[in-house]
Amino acid sequence: MGTYRKSAARSKRTAKRREMAGMFFKWLLRFYYKHSPECHCGWAMKPFVKYTDGHQWKCIWKDCGWEAFEDSNGDIDFIKINK
Ligand SMILES: [Zn+2]
Repeated sequence: MGTYRKSAARSKRTAKRREMAGMFFKWLLRFYYKHSPECHCGWAMKPFVKYTDGHQWKCIWKDCGWEAFEDSNGDIDFIKINK
């Protein structure tokens, strides 16, 4: 029983640490891609070159599928890329 309780506490601590690491990673990405919009999934987007000379970004997760671009009004439009 004592052993069980100890390992349960440990896995709870590990989960907390993983959550903290995730938050730190998100913060780091937001800092690194400072001028990038935030994806609909909540993660950062990275700039890439495609279509036009304007600014465009895509989600850091390639499975996510969202891309964003700056239109002629300077607004950021999001598009979902189907694969
Ligand atoms: Zn995304």
